[in-house]
Amino acid sequence: MASALRCEIIPVTPFEQNCSLIWDTATMRGALVDAGGEPERLLERVRHHGITLEKLLVTHGHLDHAGAVRDISDQLQLPIEGPHPDDLFWIEGMPLAAENYGFPPVRSFVPTRWLKQGDEVTVGGLHFAVSHCPGHTPGHVVFYSEPTRLAFVGDVIFQGSIGRTDFPRGNHADLIRSIRERLFPLGDDVRFVPGHGPISSFGQERRSNPYVSDAALGCQPGRAAGAEARLGPDGGQKNAAGTPRHLIPQPVTGGAAARNLKRNPLRARFRFYDYFWITCISLLDQYGIRADESAPPAGPWGRA
Ligand SMILES: [Zn+2]
Ligand SMILES: [Zn+2]
Repeated sequence: MASALRCEIIPVTPFEQNCSLIWDTATMRGALVDAGGEPERLLERVRHHGITLEKLLVTHGHLDHAGAVRDISDQLQLPIEGPHPDDLFWIEGMPLAAENYGFPPVRSFVPTRWLKQGDEVTVGGLHFAVSHCPGHTPGHVVFYSEPTRLAFVGDVIFQGSIGRTDFPRGNHADLIRSIRERLFPLGDDVRFVPGHGPISSFGQERRSNPYVSDAALGCQPGRAAGAEARLGPDGGQKNAAGTPRHLIPQPVTGGAAARNLKRNPLRARFRFYDYFWITCISLLDQYGIRADESAPPAGPWGRA
């Protein structure tokens, strides 16, 4: 039997973070993408499907995406792959973040394998291309299955929104470039599982996302209008003077986008509350049916 990707989305933590249980139907070997919390619940789903977990994949070092990684890794002796090393400070900060957010205690970890642009990860017989997509966090990575035309994008892009960049070492220009130059060129038909809220496709976001659509930026895919520097081979905005990335002034991205921001500041502010409104949308829109295990999955991603 040929390898095929199946996926079940399991929202975890009060942030309803979309942890994805992915597996190869030929070998029944699998991985958790962004085991952010509720480890027992995640492992119950693994047992339910009869999957042998092989590794843990991490898109970025935020608490809601990586909070349960250490516990599950220790319990099952699993390797951890990702994110990019630029997220080390986020992973190390998780125990304190857990305290601040009122989460159960969380331990940090050191990934077995750090990832970079162009790497490949495997799960059973499945292959995923790794894209380094900085902006939301400097070491954010995306996992892309070419045969399935499905990407796991963490908090880079959502249906109708993009990741926050008001965190330490967040960078709005990097985020726009990551989306326009590394994700959209994968193809309009490519669907993606975001870190929060419902799935979408790059084509849908190119048409209608108020932050990164062709119309908002006035440009074609593969280009970030108004962005002078392109991403380096290892991602991230390079600066000849060696200025730390978070100290580089943020360029305004695209004439149309800047005008939109001026005309509609409320909408622009909305992005900073995406945790909350995406949670609301996802509760209404997607997860009302998540307990129905008898229903066939809606696609290769399935539904928890
Ligand atoms: Zn995040
Ligand atoms: Zn998140």
